[in-house]
Amino acid sequence: REKAEIIAVGTELLLGQITNTNASWLSERLAELGLNVFYHSVVGDNLHRVCETFAHAHERSDLVIVTGGLGPTDDDLTREAFSEMSSLKMFHHEPTMVKLEDFFRKQKSIMTENNKKQALVFETAEVLDNSEGTAPGLIVEYEGTTWVFLPGVPREMKSLAEEHVFSYLERTGGRDELIRSLVLRFSGVGESKLETELKDLITEQSNPTVAPLVAKDGVTIRITAKAETAAEADELNEKMKSKVLSRVGQYFYGMNDETLASTILSMLKEKKLTIASAESLTGGMFADELISIPGASSVCLGGVVSYARSAKERLLGVPKELIDEHGTVSEACATAMAKNVKELLGGDIGISFTGVAGPGSAEGKPAGTVFIGLATSDEVHAHQFSLHGGRHSIRSQSVNKGLELIYK
Ligand code: ATP
Ligand code: MG
Repeated sequence: REKAEIIAVGTELLLGQITNTNASWLSERLAELGLNVFYHSVVGDNLHRVCETFAHAHERSDLVIVTGGLGPTDDDLTREAFSEMSSLKMFHHEPTMVKLEDFFRKQKSIMTENNKKQALVFETAEVLDNSEGTAPGLIVEYEGTTWVFLPGVPREMKSLAEEHVFSYLERTGGRDELIRSLVLRFSGVGESKLETELKDLITEQSNPTVAPLVAKDGVTIRITAKAETAAEADELNEKMKSKVLSRVGQYFYGMNDETLASTILSMLKEKKLTIASAESLTGGMFADELISIPGASSVCLGGVVSYARSAKERLLGVPKELIDEHGTVSEACATAMAKNVKELLGGDIGISFTGVAGPGSAEGKPAGTVFIGLATSDEVHAHQFSLHGGRHSIRSQSVNKGLELIYK
């Protein structure tokens, strides 16, 4: 398959109410499979325009993946449109009917004619069981083009793609190569510095390929190898990983799905250390970052959101005189917050965030001025940062800086 195309169906995408994350996720995964995506299209819930878009895609692409419009409501038109364009007949797929009836029986509600629409499939289609929802996915080979239909809901779309579609494409792609990839995660280094260090690998390597990506909590490198067996591909990837780490290993913190927060959590768990946080400008985002991870309870004691000056004084006992003299956006205040929250909750580590999230300045300090205090059993100190960006960005960068400080 030379040319792939992704079509997202839904008026809310055109109105800008939701972002077409399905297309970006699918594109990334198709690239890993060595498939070239040449077009992304978005079309509203209008039978004529969906038909037209399908006909155009059918002419120019070898693989078309459509997401959305498979649901039961009248504005879900994907099936009708493809049936009209292809003149393939549709019928009610018996196992899906049984599943739907079962679903409605359990919900104690009545199945309407509309709901039955979800069981309609094309003759010759491969029906993909949707373990996350009711509408199945479909794969149809039609006049030399592979058509894949997936639900719009990202969770359902991803699970169907992972469970059925990618393996189908590999099986029928006419290639006997396997593709395996791994992701290396870095923190405390910018994308451009990392790219400079790895420039020759990124531009000159084709197997494995080395590609940088910016993630929320740092920079990542994806290494992707093709080989006849998984073991061979893994070996190529491992060799490249060593090469990459020999250059930039000092910034490396984890692999694949690990995040800086999850790495820190495992690290603290292993060392049997607990942590308490005192947050001003981050308003609990730091605690949230750790507590989102299952198993955080053995490490995270809790935290205090002390946003106003009075909260810093009353909840954390930061002395009034200290704030009078230095202000709340200061090294002295950050240090006191970290030390006091550590003592308050009896933790091994206390961390604090105080600063100016913006947009305006505060206490005569520009937006982006942030102090992060760190208290451990042997020392208490604070680091000053000058961050750039909007309010949300400054707050989330602060959380990330805090994680980096603990990781060091
Ligand atoms: P349903 O059975 O839920 O109606 P569907 O296949 O008909 O599924 P849509 O109605 O098009 O799908 O979309 C359902 C929801 O999935 C949307 O409200 C939206 O939140 C999300 N969604 C749809 N398309 C996309 C997309 N391209 N990217 C991200 N999210 C999407
Ligand atoms: Mg729908």
